[in-house]
Amino acid sequence: MTASIDIAGERVVVVGLGASGRAAARFCAERGAQVVANDSRTEVDGLEPLVAAGVELSLGGHDPAIFQSANRIVVSPGVPPLAVVDEAAARGVPVWSEVELASRFLRGTLVAITGTNGKSTVTSLVAAMGEAAGLPAFAGANLGEPLVHAVGTAAGDRGLVVAELSSFQLERVDALRPKVAAVLNVSEDHLDRYDSYAGYVAAKGRIFAAQRAEDHAVVPADDEVCLGLARAGAGAVHGFGPGGEVRIEGDDLVDTESGLRVPVAELALTGGPNRLNACAAALIARLAGIPRAAIEGALRSFGGLGHRMELVGEVDGVAYFDDSKATNVGAAVAALRGFMGRRRVVLIAGGRDKGGSYAPLADALREVGRGAVLLGEAAERIRAGLGDAAPLRAAESMEDAVRVARELAQPGDAVLLAPACSSFDMFRSYAERGDVFQAAVRSLDSAEVNP
Ligand code: ADP
Repeated sequence: MTASIDIAGERVVVVGLGASGRAAARFCAERGAQVVANDSRTEVDGLEPLVAAGVELSLGGHDPAIFQSANRIVVSPGVPPLAVVDEAAARGVPVWSEVELASRFLRGTLVAITGTNGKSTVTSLVAAMGEAAGLPAFAGANLGEPLVHAVGTAAGDRGLVVAELSSFQLERVDALRPKVAAVLNVSEDHLDRYDSYAGYVAAKGRIFAAQRAEDHAVVPADDEVCLGLARAGAGAVHGFGPGGEVRIEGDDLVDTESGLRVPVAELALTGGPNRLNACAAALIARLAGIPRAAIEGALRSFGGLGHRMELVGEVDGVAYFDDSKATNVGAAVAALRGFMGRRRVVLIAGGRDKGGSYAPLADALREVGRGAVLLGEAAERIRAGLGDAAPLRAAESMEDAVRVARELAQPGDAVLLAPACSSFDMFRSYAERGDVFQAAVRSLDSAEVNP
């Protein structure tokens, strides 16, 4: 458990008024702090409840005066580095993320999960395992609701809180101390925001920083980078996947410590890298004290989240998968490799580039690719990175991409939307991108689609 604090009477500045910033501002005001809510934008939605809670607004820039008198600063994950914040930190003012703030008030079992990919899936599955055990459970933070919303709930007071944490949230943690913390994997992402890959990896490792000997650090057993991060903390290190405590052995998922054994064919979560995600979740849940039967029950019933390897339907013997959440190269490669030995794949990729290398995508396409259809701002960079790995075609829109992919595909193939890029060049979010893809698939002639 993390050391708690009393913020009544403090002057707290909250920077960045997205959902988690607004929640943090309100949370502090309700606990008696004098809160200034700050954003560089002049127009921000959803501020009425803050004003009603007595929060002062400072919009349209970062007025140095409000930072001068601050006792504490809460910075939202989307906020770029700011000189006024760095100066306050240099004067000794604590600068926290919303998750650090929340952790000071949580009394239940805190599980924290980070990694480049698979966070939302594993977070949701661990919470489902807790619920199957009859525990009040909260899954949130980077996924869904801000973590402060767990404070004062049954889950936050005496149940299970599973927090999905991004590297941005982890940049500003200090005493946040999960009983079980996991780094699922690391590969290149967000290089548009980090100066270096090393900086991104180091931010992920902060999830272990405040752990003590009685806590648990979970990483892939065969990943030296993740193992290095775990070993730098004081918690006991546990591995999943090949060579780990929970792994796939023949046709079964097994936990050598608890005796859990479930046939892979009976796991509800299928496709791409999901076997590994199931192993990670089973290990995390066991270390959080969840009984074997509940872990097994959730493994058999939790089928995953939308826009992650979601089967949309079949058209003329070709299966269409929506993996719009594959917003980086690592995720797209994992999705492609999941088809190895089963189907050839027409990949639809492209969107807003994040500055990483597309070489791993070229390797995966050589192994399973029938072809690739490229769209969006990154199309030319991807084309250069893919070279002759597979036949490449261009598309102007998602509807166009689905039509071209249909032409390339042969019966028995898969068409996979796994963009390896963010969606913001053409869509509001990965979810909207996936919805547009699904609608385009459903409108193809002779489509047999899932409801
Ligand atoms: P996150 O919350 O980290 O973005 P999600 O569970 O939402 O993770 O999955 C995001 C994308 O990453 C999905 O499109 C999925 O195909 C891919 N993915 C999921 N798990 C893994 C994994 N263990 N390794 C690599 N890619 C993964």
